[in-house]
Amino acid sequence: MVVIGEHRHTQVKIDLQAIKHNINEEMTRKDPLTELWAVVKANGYGHGIIQVAQAAKQAGATGFCVAILDEALALRAAGITEPILVLGITEPEYAPLIAEKDISVAVGSQEWLDQAKSILAANQVSAPLHVHLALDTGMGRIGFQTPAELSVAVKTLNTPASPFDFEGVFTHFATADQADDTYFEHQIDNWKQLIAVIDELPRYVHVSNSATSLWHQACNGNMIRFGVALYGLNPSGTELTSPYRLHPALSLTAQLSFVKKLARGKSISYGATYTAAQDEWIGTVPIGYADGYERRLQGFHVLVDGEVCEIVGRVCMDQMMVRLPHEVPVGSTVTLVGTDGDQTITLQDIADYCGTIHYEIACGLAPRLPRVYTE
Ligand SMILES: *Cc1c(COP(=O)(O)O)cnc(C)c1O
Repeated sequence: MVVIGEHRHTQVKIDLQAIKHNINEEMTRKDPLTELWAVVKANGYGHGIIQVAQAAKQAGATGFCVAILDEALALRAAGITEPILVLGITEPEYAPLIAEKDISVAVGSQEWLDQAKSILAANQVSAPLHVHLALDTGMGRIGFQTPAELSVAVKTLNTPASPFDFEGVFTHFATADQADDTYFEHQIDNWKQLIAVIDELPRYVHVSNSATSLWHQACNGNMIRFGVALYGLNPSGTELTSPYRLHPALSLTAQLSFVKKLARGKSISYGATYTAAQDEWIGTVPIGYADGYERRLQGFHVLVDGEVCEIVGRVCMDQMMVRLPHEVPVGSTVTLVGTDGDQTITLQDIADYCGTIHYEIACGLAPRLPRVYTE
């Protein structure tokens, strides 16, 4: 099989030890009866779904959360036997497949249950379908909004001949990563009102993403959905401080593919937006916006052999240019994310420059960048 990107010296490196460290820290902090499920959606936030899941499992994760059914199927195909919850809405037509693969799904409406029930019956599926009811307490994305709707769904799940296993109930907070608690408290109030209609709570009651687990005493949960923090990224960006040191797992490196002296007055890249003010050494880096290294990063910097170098001219689809402090050889190490010597560039730095959050930068790193793992 041809692995595209294998023969270019541009790589994402993932330190699985860092992932285990972050999970261990959370494991020692949380209530011992609370389970930690690793959120590995979007190819493990760009880090690689299977490798991250295996590392998380070794560090003590007892289940997994993904966004879409295919991600759950990929985990099962890789031999993961722990519970897997699909957090988004899955089409009811896949109910037989979900049940057969012993996957759990988020459900946010009575219509979904009704449709899944008839599809399961039509296909004579006997395996129970594991359901986690999603409660919309203020995220406004998916889930039951009123106690009345919720109690009908609970009744459906608890009907004796029901094809469903009522396995969990959960909600998701919109502002757990902010210092201001007002909206969080509002969601807690809604949660309490909704949950009150369930006489017998299911096996899993969960409300915590990373930010909730790090910064809030969450109510009655017995499982946390630990996502971005397991990759060593602070869910709040820079607003709140993590109770323990998070170790970022991802770095991004390349090697200079071309080095030249550019005469004063000559320009660089599309639009000729950069002109050399004097004779300058310019290096070319084999990465571009097709790799998820955004075009907006013109003017930002990378490290070449540990020295800070500005990105000059527009970032192209597959290549970009940097201004070097002096002549360096082709093949010199370029660090785009990570540490070289006493300099560090974080995903947060890139996100700040792009006006976004590190989540978006991490999961935007393209499949063309090979992921290389170290233990
Ligand atoms: C993505 C997601 C999480 C994980 O969030 P982090 O901020 O990465 O910890 C948890 N719960 C739900 C419902 C999600 O969609």
